[in-house]
Amino acid sequence: MTENILVKNPATGELIEEVKTNTNEEIEQALLKSHESFKTWSSVNAHERSRLLQKWSNLIQKNKESIAKVMTLESGKPIKESLGEVDYATSYIDWYAEEAKRLYGRTVPANTETKRIIITRQPVGPVAAITPWNFPAAMMTRKAAPALAAGCTFVVKPAEETPLTTMKLIELAHQAGIPNDVVQCVNGDGPTIGDIFTNSPYIRKITFTGSTPVGKSLITKSADTMKHVSMELGGHAPVIVAADADIDFAVNQTIASKFRNAGQTCICANRVLVHESIVDEYAQKLATAVRQLKLGNGLKEDTDVGPVINKGGFNKVVSQLEDAVSKGAEVLCGNEFNANQEKGYYFVHPTVLKDVNEEMNIMQEETFGPVIPITTFTELDRAITIANSTPYGLASYFFTNDYRTGVYLHENLNFGIVGWNDGAPSAAHAPFGGMKESGIGREGGTEGIEPYLETKYLSIGNL
Ligand code: ADP
Repeated sequence: MTENILVKNPATGELIEEVKTNTNEEIEQALLKSHESFKTWSSVNAHERSRLLQKWSNLIQKNKESIAKVMTLESGKPIKESLGEVDYATSYIDWYAEEAKRLYGRTVPANTETKRIIITRQPVGPVAAITPWNFPAAMMTRKAAPALAAGCTFVVKPAEETPLTTMKLIELAHQAGIPNDVVQCVNGDGPTIGDIFTNSPYIRKITFTGSTPVGKSLITKSADTMKHVSMELGGHAPVIVAADADIDFAVNQTIASKFRNAGQTCICANRVLVHESIVDEYAQKLATAVRQLKLGNGLKEDTDVGPVINKGGFNKVVSQLEDAVSKGAEVLCGNEFNANQEKGYYFVHPTVLKDVNEEMNIMQEETFGPVIPITTFTELDRAITIANSTPYGLASYFFTNDYRTGVYLHENLNFGIVGWNDGAPSAAHAPFGGMKESGIGREGGTEGIEPYLETKYLSIGNL
């Protein structure tokens, strides 16, 4: 017997709900339904698919408050962020409801009068998605919306920590009129479901957001059946603050980037590199502002920073902090905890570290917690070298009002997303995704529907 999933509130450790785990047979059945319904869904006209997506988005918006509450309960994120995530999640559905109508093909002039060349776009086939706990609504909709818009059927496995938000959204998709077999949710253990998805002959595409090691294993396992893959993996975002930067603005944006979801986002500021001529002012202003952030239960309106998701996440943050402090980092604020292992909650006070160097683990590993490490540079090229020195290449940020510095940084930072005087670049209308070991493919923008499409070339001869 497979054990059910106990969904717990990370702010209190209390049980919220028990979710039934699907058996392997049920999951196989879901994939078969995905396969069987593909033929009908892919032939529904694009305007109708668009209309259904728009209806889904509207229903989510109608239920915004209750969805946000469930999200905060299961993920711990502050309620204002959960409300923001509902908007962010529907913005992807809205965008791809429009893109559904713009999946154009091409005609190409032939090299003979007796031929015509026509290029069309077709849905790739049934899609299986695996999503993480940190954005249980948006990480699903930014996969489901382009998949459904393209004419693909869709099965999602949400993270064990946060299945409730996703399940609610899938229920609303059905209420909107998207057939039950076209969009489905299955629950259970990641590795088991990952194997069923990747082994299935019915699934033509795997789309995943999560850790880099799991992403790599999904790519390997998808090779046998040559599935398409999209991977949104880990990041270790650098923030470069140039000597001429607007310091107050840079402080404000660093905080916006770092403390969203208690620092548990793959694009949040993870390493801050400040020109040594301004580091004291920047660090002091940053620490002063960080001390004002309110740590607590996300259901309280005034909470800025919630708990970290679980013991594993907490232990990683604590070990990075211990390592940094033992190697000489100065604690400007935080480095305090409110954790109760018996009850199962783990809070990390927002922390700022100064005098950090590259020997410290925090400069090499993704943190996933509310900690800002600050280091310095004198030459811009040195900052770029440090920024590019990890295997990650998801998001990077820099602050400068000098256009030559800005253009140089943009051209030399090896990251899929670059924020120039912008700590919050993510948007449904722009391509989100990483270089290097941060992933393959893009989500959002016109690019975000491409991975759900095949190109078919028709050559008509003997005319
Ligand atoms: P995180 O550390 O953020 O939890 P993971 O990559 O472990 O990141 O988890 C992201 C998603 O991947 C979750 O839905 C989880 O259940 C799933 N998962 C974990 N391990 C595997 C695996 N081996 N194969 C497929 N999915 C997995």
